Amino acid sequence: MPSRGVTIPALSSAGFSLRMPVPEILLLNDGTVWQDPGGPFGLVPRTLWEGELPPEAHGATPMTLHALLVRSQGTTVLVETGLGTKLDQAALAAWGLERPEGTLLDQLARQGVSPEDIDVVINTHLHADHCGGNTRIENGQVVPTFARAKYLVQRLEWASAAQPDERTRNTYLPANFQPLIQSGQMRLVHGDTQVTTGLRTVVTRGHTRGHQSVLVEGPRPILFTGDMASLAVHFERLNWLTAFDAEPLETLASKQRWQAWVEDNQAIIICAHDHYRPVGSLTRSGKRLELVPIPLPQSP
Ligand SMILES: [Zn+2]
Repeated sequence: MPSRGVTIPALSSAGFSLRMPVPEILLLNDGTVWQDPGGPFGLVPRTLWEGELPPEAHGATPMTLHALLVRSQGTTVLVETGLGTKLDQAALAAWGLERPEGTLLDQLARQGVSPEDIDVVINTHLHADHCGGNTRIENGQVVPTFARAKYLVQRLEWASAAQPDERTRNTYLPANFQPLIQSGQMRLVHGDTQVTTGLRTVVTRGHTRGHQSVLVEGPRPILFTGDMASLAVHFERLNWLTAFDAEPLETLASKQRWQAWVEDNQAIIICAHDHYRPVGSLTRSGKRLELVPIPLPQSP
């Protein structure tokens, strides 16, 4: 698939487009946090971002903690685990967390999925709002939430989390990942990684050094951006960067590459935190790209 300098290797040499089993995908969440807009918009002037959000989001911007459940060829994969259930009341208040649909585990249960059914957990990165549900408290001990699962994280991300600096110390919380090292469930991967047929992680450096996004292949590929593009507007506008990016210029380069890929492949995008437009396709009008909301395709 040639696309402006970006080549994503095919999964197999045989045509997989129609015969390949399409993974079953569900969009779930672990609630919505209300954040000062200075976080998601960083150096973008207020006069610009105000026009992109409804007035209700001007004082505090809702950021939903999206997760994906993907069933592919007998393997059940959970992408992201949200904030989880270990936070105390002060931390929950600081996040401004609301859970009108219950926790991620509540939503999995409503789908008939128990924590033991999860084979693989993918964290795009180890910030607390993406991996807080990796572990939970049981009898006063922090234990893995998904007892049978392998947890996939980029090795470079693990290195960043294990050696936090003054900027990252409050979000790289050892309780979210250290127990998984001890239990032997953490799998540190290096580079783009095939997880199941039709599902792989792709390195999208910038928000963190070891950030990865998730690609679900099929007749119409789906890209779960993680925090490469927290909100839809971050994917539309390359130079809109969050205040949280460790390497802003690397985020910009990652977005440039994947924005072109999404447009060329007519892929579906899922932005990790967008409350209003979590799932969409890119439509170009003149120079401007717009993420137009669409429903997540239903499984056959
Ligand atoms: Zn995030």
